[in-house]
Amino acid sequence: VKEGGRAGFRFHVPRKEVDLLSRMRLDHDMRQALAEGRFRLHYQPQVELGSDRVIGAEALIRWRDPQRGEISPAEFIPLAEESGFVVAIGDWVLKEAVAQAARWLARGLRMPVAVNVSALQFQQPHFVDTVAAALRDAMLPASLLELELTEGVLMRDTEEGLRRMHALAALGVTLSIDDFGTGYSSLGYLKRFPIQRLKIDRSFVQGLPGDPSDVGIANAIVQMGRALGLQVIAEGVETEAQRDFLAQAGCHEFQGYLFARPLRPDEFEQRVRPRRHV
Ligand code: C2E
Ligand code: CA
Ligand code: CA
Ligand code: CA
Repeated sequence: VKEGGRAGFRFHVPRKEVDLLSRMRLDHDMRQALAEGRFRLHYQPQVELGSDRVIGAEALIRWRDPQRGEISPAEFIPLAEESGFVVAIGDWVLKEAVAQAARWLARGLRMPVAVNVSALQFQQPHFVDTVAAALRDAMLPASLLELELTEGVLMRDTEEGLRRMHALAALGVTLSIDDFGTGYSSLGYLKRFPIQRLKIDRSFVQGLPGDPSDVGIANAIVQMGRALGLQVIAEGVETEAQRDFLAQAGCHEFQGYLFARPLRPDEFEQRVRPRRHV
C-alpha cells in the first residue's frame, strides 16, 4: 500500500501520471505566483578573505505559496526551464535585482548584484537588449550587475553565444561561470569567452579538506583561474576548515552559510552596514 498523499485518488493512478499531474499543477501555480507578485529575491553576501568585507550579493529567487509553503528554486526552476516559463521568471528576476541594486546605490550602498541566467533565457534573441533596458530603466551602472552563466549555457551555441557575451561585456556587465566544473567543460572556451569570474561549485567544496579528489579539483580550478587572470569564488562554504583550505589554495572570495545565508534585502543592508540607523 502506497502513501495516499493529499488526494485519495492518487492510490490507483500510475506514478508517472501522478508526477505529470503534480508538475502541471506546480507549473500552473508558478504562473499564478508571477502574475500575483509572490516571488521575492533574497541576497547572499559574497565575502572577501581577510577583511570580511561584503563585495557582492547573489540574488536567489524565493517563492512562498499560501498552500504549499516555501518551494525551493531547485524544484521549480528546472520545471520552468522545461516549460519555457523560466524566461518570464528570469526577466522578473533581472528587473528586480537591478532595481534593488539601484535602490541601494541611491542610499549610498554600492553593491554589485549577481543574477542567475538560465540557458533558455540567454538564448532569447533580445537578451542583450533586455539587460541593457533593465540597466537603463533603473539607471544602474552596468559594473554593478553580474550575470552567472552555467557551462551548459556556454556550450550550446558557441558562435551566437560568444557574440552575445561580447555584447554584454561591452555594456560593462561582469560575466561569471556558475557551478564551474560540473558541466561538460572545454577548457578552450575559458580563453575565448569574455568571462571575469569562476564560481567553484559547492559539490567540490563539500569534501574539503579531507577528500583527495575535491582537494585536487579545487586546487586545479583556483590555479587555472589565476593563470587566466580570473577571479575565483567558492560557493557553499560552510566550515572554517573549508575556508582555510581554499584560502591557502589561493581562493580569496567566499559565499556560504559560514558567512551568511541568503537574506531579505533589509537584512542584507543591516548586515552590510550594521551602524546605519533608519
Ligand atoms: P546556485 O546558483 O548554485 O545557488 C547557490 C545555492 O546554494 C542557493 O540555493 C543557496 O541558497 C545555496 N547555498 C548557499 N550557501 C550554501 C551553503 O553554505 N550550504 C548549502 N548547503 N547551500 C548553500 P537556492 O537558493 O535554493 O537555489 C538553488 C538553485 O536554484 C540555484 O543554485 C540556481 O541554480 C537556481 N536559482 C535560484 N534562483 C534563481 C534565479 O533567480 N534564476 C535562475 N535561473 N535560477 C535560480
Ligand atoms: Ca548561482
Ligand atoms: Ca552556483
Ligand atoms: Ca551550485
